[in-house]
Amino acid sequence: MTMSDEKYVHKDCRNYAPIDVRKGFCHVHKKEVPADTEVCAKFERAPKCRYCKNFTADQEKIELGVCEASMSTPKFVAYPDMVAVTCEMYKEA
Ligand code: SF4
Repeated sequence: MTMSDEKYVHKDCRNYAPIDVRKGFCHVHKKEVPADTEVCAKFERAPKCRYCKNFTADQEKIELGVCEASMSTPKFVAYPDMVAVTCEMYKEA
């Protein structure tokens, strides 16, 4: 799937700050927005493990995977929605 045909929601946006699992605060519009509804024209994709070249999804466990850049054995467990703003190993896929 490419970035152009992927459907994004507010929780994928760099401007979104989560309040709880269902809603968050938009720093552009200065208001609460639902986590899983369609984005606006100001959308900026946030760095997350699911968009990183180093992330490999677990084929059997949904919403789980590993970081291939991890130096530990076994490799560091990651999940697709993990925000990677501070990760030094993040590589935009
Ligand atoms: S900028 Fe748009 S897409 Fe991003 S959180 Fe705000 S309303 Fe949602």
